[in-house]
Amino acid sequence: MRWNPYIDLLCEVSPTSRAKCKACDVEIDRGSFRVKAINVLGQEQLYHLDCAATKAPDLAARKLKDKAPDWPAQALSDLARFVDKDVEPSPRSYQRTPILDLSYDKRDMHGDCAFCGVEVPGGPGIAHQHAVRAFSIDGERRLHLGCVVQLAPGLCQRVVAEASERWPEDVRAFLKEQLPPGIAPTPRSPWRDTGGLPALEVAPSGRAACRYTKEKIAKGELRISRQQVFGMRRSPVYFSVAAYVRSDDFHPRMLELMVLKSPPEVTREQVEAIVAALPPPYPEDDDVTPLGERLLALFDAKPRAQEETQPNAQLTENKVDIPTGFFFNA
Ligand SMILES: [Zn+2]
Ligand SMILES: [Zn+2]
Repeated sequence: MRWNPYIDLLCEVSPTSRAKCKACDVEIDRGSFRVKAINVLGQEQLYHLDCAATKAPDLAARKLKDKAPDWPAQALSDLARFVDKDVEPSPRSYQRTPILDLSYDKRDMHGDCAFCGVEVPGGPGIAHQHAVRAFSIDGERRLHLGCVVQLAPGLCQRVVAEASERWPEDVRAFLKEQLPPGIAPTPRSPWRDTGGLPALEVAPSGRAACRYTKEKIAKGELRISRQQVFGMRRSPVYFSVAAYVRSDDFHPRMLELMVLKSPPEVTREQVEAIVAALPPPYPEDDDVTPLGERLLALFDAKPRAQEETQPNAQLTENKVDIPTGFFFNA
Protein backbone atom coordinates (compact mmCIF):
# COMPACT_ATOMS: atom_id res chain seq x y z
CA MET A 1 0.00 0.00 0.00
CA ARG A 2 1.35 3.38 -0.95
CA TRP A 3 0.46 6.76 0.42
CA ASN A 4 1.48 10.26 -0.63
CA PRO A 5 0.80 13.67 0.91
CA TYR A 6 -0.45 15.39 -2.26
CA ILE A 7 -3.92 16.74 -2.96
CA ASP A 8 -3.49 18.12 -6.48
CA LEU A 9 -1.12 18.22 -9.44
CA LEU A 10 -0.93 21.36 -11.56
CA CYS A 11 0.76 21.29 -14.94
CA GLU A 12 2.60 24.12 -16.65
CA VAL A 13 5.29 24.69 -19.24
CA SER A 14 8.59 25.40 -17.52
CA PRO A 15 9.52 29.07 -18.16
CA THR A 16 13.23 28.49 -17.33
CA SER A 17 15.61 25.59 -16.90
CA ARG A 18 16.66 26.67 -13.43
CA ALA A 19 14.24 24.67 -11.27
CA LYS A 20 15.24 21.22 -10.11
CA CYS A 21 12.88 18.29 -9.76
CA LYS A 22 12.27 17.46 -6.09
CA ALA A 23 12.38 13.72 -6.83
CA CYS A 24 15.46 13.24 -9.02
CA ASP A 25 17.32 16.53 -8.38
CA VAL A 26 17.79 17.12 -12.12
CA GLU A 27 16.91 20.45 -13.78
CA ILE A 28 13.58 20.63 -15.57
CA ASP A 29 14.18 21.73 -19.18
CA ARG A 30 12.84 25.07 -20.32
CA GLY A 31 9.75 24.57 -22.48
CA SER A 32 8.99 21.08 -21.14
CA PHE A 33 5.97 20.26 -18.99
CA ARG A 34 6.51 20.41 -15.27
CA VAL A 35 4.18 19.51 -12.42
CA LYS A 36 3.51 21.51 -9.30
CA ALA A 37 2.44 19.00 -6.68
CA ILE A 38 0.47 20.59 -3.83
CA ASN A 39 0.65 18.77 -0.52
CA VAL A 40 -1.93 18.75 2.21
CA LEU A 41 -0.19 21.64 3.99
CA GLY A 42 -0.54 23.77 0.85
CA GLN A 43 3.17 23.62 -0.03
CA GLU A 44 4.23 23.25 -3.67
CA GLN A 45 6.91 20.95 -5.04
CA LEU A 46 8.13 20.84 -8.64
CA TYR A 47 8.51 17.56 -10.52
CA HIS A 48 9.16 16.22 -13.97
CA LEU A 49 6.02 14.73 -15.47
CA ASP A 50 7.25 11.16 -15.00
CA CYS A 51 8.55 11.86 -11.49
CA ALA A 52 5.15 13.29 -10.48
CA ALA A 53 3.46 10.14 -11.77
CA THR A 54 5.76 8.07 -9.53
CA LYS A 55 5.26 10.30 -6.47
CA ALA A 56 1.48 10.68 -6.75
CA PRO A 57 0.20 7.89 -9.04
CA ASP A 58 -3.37 8.19 -7.73
CA LEU A 59 -3.59 11.89 -8.59
CA ALA A 60 -2.03 11.25 -12.00
CA ALA A 61 -4.58 8.48 -12.63
CA ARG A 62 -7.39 10.89 -11.73
CA LYS A 63 -6.13 13.51 -14.19
CA LEU A 64 -6.11 10.84 -16.89
CA LYS A 65 -9.49 9.33 -16.04
CA ASP A 66 -11.25 12.71 -15.98
CA LYS A 67 -9.23 14.11 -18.92
CA ALA A 68 -8.44 17.02 -16.59
CA PRO A 69 -9.54 20.27 -18.28
CA ASP A 70 -6.82 22.19 -16.39
CA TRP A 71 -4.09 20.09 -18.06
CA PRO A 72 -2.80 20.54 -21.64
CA ALA A 73 -3.93 17.61 -23.82
CA GLN A 74 -0.32 16.86 -24.79
CA ALA A 75 0.74 16.68 -21.14
CA LEU A 76 -2.06 14.20 -20.42
CA SER A 77 -1.05 11.94 -23.26
CA ASP A 78 2.60 12.08 -22.10
CA LEU A 79 1.48 11.35 -18.53
CA ALA A 80 -0.45 8.27 -19.64
CA ARG A 81 2.84 6.52 -20.44
CA PHE A 82 3.92 6.71 -16.77
CA VAL A 83 0.77 5.57 -14.95
CA ASP A 84 -0.09 1.90 -14.43
CA LYS A 85 -3.56 0.88 -15.56
CA ASP A 86 -4.39 -0.70 -12.18
CA VAL A 87 -3.77 2.42 -10.05
CA GLU A 88 -6.91 3.58 -8.27
CA PRO A 89 -7.51 7.28 -9.01
CA SER A 90 -7.59 9.71 -6.10
CA PRO A 91 -11.02 10.80 -4.83
CA ARG A 92 -12.52 13.74 -6.71
CA SER A 93 -13.37 15.29 -3.33
CA TYR A 94 -9.66 16.10 -2.87
CA GLN A 95 -10.49 19.04 -5.13
CA ARG A 96 -12.94 20.44 -2.60
CA THR A 97 -10.91 23.26 -1.14
CA PRO A 98 -13.29 25.87 0.23
CA ILE A 99 -12.23 29.47 0.77
CA LEU A 100 -11.29 29.69 4.45
CA ASP A 101 -10.23 33.30 4.83
CA LEU A 102 -9.98 36.59 2.92
CA SER A 103 -7.60 39.49 3.03
CA TYR A 104 -7.52 42.79 1.18
CA ASP A 105 -4.67 42.83 -1.34
CA LYS A 106 -2.78 46.12 -1.13
CA ARG A 107 0.07 44.94 -3.37
CA ASP A 108 0.02 46.59 -6.75
CA MET A 109 0.27 43.29 -8.59
CA HIS A 110 -1.73 42.31 -11.61
CA GLY A 111 -2.87 38.85 -12.54
CA ASP A 112 -5.99 37.04 -13.60
CA CYS A 113 -8.96 36.54 -11.31
CA ALA A 114 -9.22 32.86 -10.39
CA PHE A 115 -13.01 33.01 -10.77
CA CYS A 116 -13.74 34.98 -13.96
CA GLY A 117 -10.31 34.92 -15.63
CA VAL A 118 -10.26 38.71 -16.20
CA GLU A 119 -7.28 40.74 -15.04
CA VAL A 120 -7.38 41.90 -11.42
CA PRO A 121 -7.28 44.75 -10.63
CA GLY A 122 -8.68 45.78 -14.01
CA GLY A 123 -11.92 46.66 -15.69
CA PRO A 124 -14.48 49.29 -14.81
CA GLY A 125 -16.10 49.95 -11.46
CA ILE A 126 -15.27 49.18 -7.87
CA ALA A 127 -16.09 45.49 -8.37
CA HIS A 128 -13.02 45.20 -10.62
CA GLN A 129 -10.62 47.78 -9.21
CA HIS A 130 -9.69 45.94 -6.03
CA ALA A 131 -8.02 42.60 -5.50
CA VAL A 132 -8.86 40.20 -2.68
CA ARG A 133 -6.70 37.28 -1.58
CA ALA A 134 -8.68 34.15 -0.84
CA PHE A 135 -6.95 31.48 1.23
CA SER A 136 -7.65 27.79 0.93
CA ILE A 137 -6.04 24.50 1.92
CA ASP A 138 -4.22 24.36 -1.40
CA GLY A 139 -2.89 27.92 -1.40
CA GLU A 140 -4.17 31.41 -2.18
CA ARG A 141 -5.93 32.92 -5.15
CA ARG A 142 -6.60 36.50 -6.24
CA LEU A 143 -10.13 37.53 -7.00
CA HIS A 144 -12.14 40.61 -7.89
CA LEU A 145 -14.23 42.13 -5.15
CA GLY A 146 -17.32 41.48 -7.27
CA CYS A 147 -16.38 37.82 -7.69
CA VAL A 148 -15.57 37.14 -4.05
CA VAL A 149 -19.03 38.35 -3.00
CA GLN A 150 -20.51 35.54 -5.09
CA LEU A 151 -18.03 32.90 -3.95
CA ALA A 152 -17.78 33.57 -0.23
CA PRO A 153 -20.70 35.71 0.98
CA GLY A 154 -20.37 34.56 4.61
CA LEU A 155 -16.70 35.61 4.74
CA CYS A 156 -17.58 38.96 3.10
CA GLN A 157 -20.25 39.46 5.77
CA ARG A 158 -17.55 38.92 8.39
CA VAL A 159 -15.40 41.61 6.73
CA VAL A 160 -18.38 43.98 6.96
CA ALA A 161 -19.11 43.02 10.59
CA GLU A 162 -15.51 43.29 11.78
CA ALA A 163 -15.02 46.72 10.13
CA SER A 164 -11.23 46.32 10.23
CA GLU A 165 -9.14 49.18 8.88
CA ARG A 166 -7.17 46.70 6.81
CA TRP A 167 -10.12 46.88 4.41
CA PRO A 168 -10.78 50.31 2.82
CA GLU A 169 -14.06 51.87 3.84
CA ASP A 170 -15.45 52.09 0.31
CA VAL A 171 -14.68 48.39 -0.19
CA ARG A 172 -16.57 47.45 2.97
CA ALA A 173 -19.47 49.67 1.90
CA PHE A 174 -19.54 47.93 -1.49
CA LEU A 175 -19.63 44.49 0.12
CA LYS A 176 -22.41 45.56 2.46
CA GLU A 177 -24.48 46.84 -0.45
CA GLN A 178 -23.87 43.74 -2.61
CA LEU A 179 -24.57 41.07 0.00
CA PRO A 180 -28.05 39.58 -0.19
CA PRO A 181 -30.05 39.81 3.05
CA GLY A 182 -29.89 37.01 5.59
CA ILE A 183 -26.22 36.06 5.12
CA ALA A 184 -24.65 35.24 8.49
CA PRO A 185 -20.97 36.06 9.00
CA THR A 186 -18.79 32.93 8.86
CA PRO A 187 -17.12 32.48 12.26
CA ARG A 188 -13.34 32.67 12.39
CA SER A 189 -11.86 29.21 12.16
CA PRO A 190 -9.65 28.26 15.11
CA TRP A 191 -7.88 25.83 12.76
CA ARG A 192 -6.58 28.78 10.71
CA ASP A 193 -4.54 29.97 13.70
CA THR A 194 -2.65 26.70 13.94
CA GLY A 195 0.12 25.27 11.81
CA GLY A 196 2.28 22.27 11.02
CA LEU A 197 1.23 18.67 11.03
CA PRO A 198 -1.80 17.90 13.16
CA ALA A 199 -1.59 14.78 15.33
CA LEU A 200 -4.12 12.36 16.76
CA GLU A 201 -3.66 11.62 20.44
CA VAL A 202 -5.49 10.04 23.34
CA ALA A 203 -6.50 12.80 25.76
CA PRO A 204 -4.48 12.26 28.96
CA SER A 205 -7.00 14.31 30.95
CA GLY A 206 -10.42 15.84 30.48
CA ARG A 207 -9.24 19.42 30.93
CA ALA A 208 -8.75 20.61 27.33
CA ALA A 209 -11.66 21.94 25.29
CA CYS A 210 -12.27 21.58 21.57
CA ARG A 211 -11.55 24.91 19.83
CA TYR A 212 -14.55 24.44 17.56
CA THR A 213 -17.24 23.52 20.07
CA LYS A 214 -15.65 24.86 23.34
CA GLU A 215 -16.71 21.56 24.91
CA LYS A 216 -14.31 19.51 27.02
CA ILE A 217 -12.76 16.46 25.40
CA ALA A 218 -13.09 13.51 27.81
CA LYS A 219 -10.04 11.71 29.18
CA GLY A 220 -9.20 8.71 27.00
CA GLU A 221 -10.99 10.13 23.95
CA LEU A 222 -9.18 10.85 20.71
CA ARG A 223 -8.37 14.48 20.00
CA ILE A 224 -6.44 16.39 17.33
CA SER A 225 -3.51 18.45 18.52
CA ARG A 226 -1.92 21.26 16.51
CA GLN A 227 0.49 24.10 17.24
CA GLN A 228 -0.79 27.63 17.70
CA VAL A 229 1.03 29.87 15.23
CA PHE A 230 0.39 33.29 16.76
CA GLY A 231 1.91 34.64 19.94
CA MET A 232 5.24 33.97 21.57
CA ARG A 233 4.44 30.61 23.05
CA ARG A 234 4.12 27.63 20.71
CA SER A 235 1.44 25.95 22.77
CA PRO A 236 -0.65 23.09 21.39
CA VAL A 237 -4.39 23.52 20.94
CA TYR A 238 -6.96 20.76 20.60
CA PHE A 239 -9.89 19.88 18.41
CA SER A 240 -12.44 17.10 18.65
CA VAL A 241 -12.24 14.77 15.66
CA ALA A 242 -16.00 14.88 15.05
CA ALA A 243 -15.99 18.70 14.92
CA TYR A 244 -12.97 18.78 12.59
CA VAL A 245 -14.44 16.35 10.05
CA ARG A 246 -17.62 18.46 9.85
CA SER A 247 -15.76 21.76 9.42
CA ASP A 248 -14.68 23.54 6.24
CA ASP A 249 -11.08 22.94 7.33
CA PHE A 250 -11.48 19.20 6.86
CA HIS A 251 -9.55 17.53 4.08
CA PRO A 252 -9.64 13.73 3.71
CA ARG A 253 -5.91 13.61 2.96
CA MET A 254 -5.16 15.38 6.25
CA LEU A 255 -7.18 12.80 8.17
CA GLU A 256 -5.38 9.98 6.32
CA LEU A 257 -2.11 11.55 7.42
CA MET A 258 -3.24 11.73 11.04
CA VAL A 259 -4.31 8.08 11.06
CA LEU A 260 -1.07 7.04 9.39
CA LYS A 261 1.01 8.89 11.99
CA SER A 262 -1.17 8.02 14.99
CA PRO A 263 0.75 6.92 18.10
CA PRO A 264 0.71 3.24 19.16
CA GLU A 265 -1.88 3.79 21.91
CA VAL A 266 -4.54 4.70 19.34
CA THR A 267 -6.70 1.60 18.84
CA ARG A 268 -8.50 0.30 15.77
CA GLU A 269 -11.79 0.79 17.64
CA GLN A 270 -11.00 4.50 17.97
CA VAL A 271 -10.31 4.76 14.25
CA GLU A 272 -13.61 2.96 13.61
CA ALA A 273 -15.29 5.63 15.75
CA ILE A 274 -13.74 8.32 13.52
CA VAL A 275 -15.14 6.51 10.49
CA ALA A 276 -18.59 6.49 12.10
CA ALA A 277 -18.36 10.26 12.68
CA LEU A 278 -17.48 11.10 9.05
CA PRO A 279 -19.90 13.21 7.04
CA PRO A 280 -21.83 11.38 4.31
CA PRO A 281 -19.63 10.49 1.31
CA TYR A 282 -19.44 13.09 -1.46
CA PRO A 283 -21.44 12.07 -4.53
CA GLU A 284 -18.45 12.67 -6.82
CA ASP A 285 -16.50 9.93 -5.00
CA ASP A 286 -18.60 7.15 -6.55
CA ASP A 287 -15.63 5.52 -8.31
CA VAL A 288 -13.16 5.16 -5.42
CA THR A 289 -12.82 3.19 -2.18
CA PRO A 290 -14.82 5.03 0.53
CA LEU A 291 -12.77 7.21 2.90
CA GLY A 292 -13.68 5.08 5.94
CA GLU A 293 -12.27 1.96 4.29
CA ARG A 294 -9.15 3.82 3.24
CA LEU A 295 -8.58 5.04 6.80
CA LEU A 296 -8.88 1.54 8.25
CA ALA A 297 -6.58 0.12 5.56
CA LEU A 298 -4.00 2.82 6.35
CA PHE A 299 -4.30 2.08 10.06
CA ASP A 300 -3.80 -1.64 9.44
CA ALA A 301 -0.81 -1.01 7.18
CA LYS A 302 0.94 1.70 9.16
CA PRO A 303 4.44 0.96 10.40
CA ARG A 304 4.51 0.01 14.05
CA ALA A 305 7.60 0.31 16.21
CA GLN A 306 7.43 -3.21 17.66
CA GLU A 307 7.43 -4.79 14.20
CA GLU A 308 10.73 -3.22 13.24
CA THR A 309 12.52 -5.66 15.54
CA GLN A 310 10.94 -8.65 13.75
CA PRO A 311 12.58 -8.99 10.35
CA ASN A 312 9.96 -11.45 9.11
CA ALA A 313 7.08 -9.08 9.76
CA GLN A 314 7.77 -7.31 6.47
CA LEU A 315 6.99 -10.47 4.56
CA THR A 316 3.48 -10.76 5.91
CA GLU A 317 2.48 -7.24 6.87
CA ASN A 318 0.82 -4.90 4.43
CA LYS A 319 3.38 -2.10 4.74
CA VAL A 320 2.63 1.44 3.83
CA ASP A 321 5.23 3.31 1.84
CA ILE A 322 5.60 6.80 3.32
CA PRO A 323 7.49 9.29 1.16
CA THR A 324 10.74 10.35 2.79
CA GLY A 325 11.23 13.99 3.59
CA PHE A 326 7.62 15.02 3.92
CA PHE A 327 7.21 14.65 7.66
CA PHE A 328 10.50 16.32 8.40
CA ASN A 329 10.22 19.27 6.06
CA ALA A 330 6.75 20.11 7.20
ZN1 LIG B 1 12.49 14.30 -11.83
ZN1 LIG C 1 -13.24 38.01 -11.25
